[in-house]
Amino acid sequence: MDCVFCKIISGEIPSKKVYEDEKVVAFYDLEPQAPVHVLIVPKIHIESVLGVDETNSAYIAHVFEVAAKLAVELGLTDGFRVVANTGDNAGQTVKHIHFHLIGGRKLGREA
Ligand code: 5GP
Ligand code: ZN
Repeated sequence: MDCVFCKIISGEIPSKKVYEDEKVVAFYDLEPQAPVHVLIVPKIHIESVLGVDETNSAYIAHVFEVAAKLAVELGLTDGFRVVANTGDNAGQTVKHIHFHLIGGRKLGREA
């Protein structure tokens, strides 16, 4: 499949991984928006939040377990954001669901 995150999951495209298990991989964003900017990506191809249903929601729950663990490990417990841009109006550029874990500076109120 022509999907950049599927290729990162398979190892075809290299990435700087911070965490991996059987359900998710987490790696540093190529264009960080903050001192810490990690993408947490389920290892199944779901296009966006609109594709989440009862057959795959365990992967999404697991994303948040990993987010909690990484927030502690990466020193973000003073505050951070977990964001899933969804669809064109939200600026989703990669059509494989992913969660931005962003922190390490005071974050603004941008929507
Ligand atoms: P979106 O805009 O879809 O919410 O987020 C996609 C993110 O993926 C962007 O922040 C972009 O910098 C990142 N990204 C796109 N391609 C790659 C890649 O090949 N490697 C890494 N590490 N990040 C990528
Ligand atoms: Zn994919």
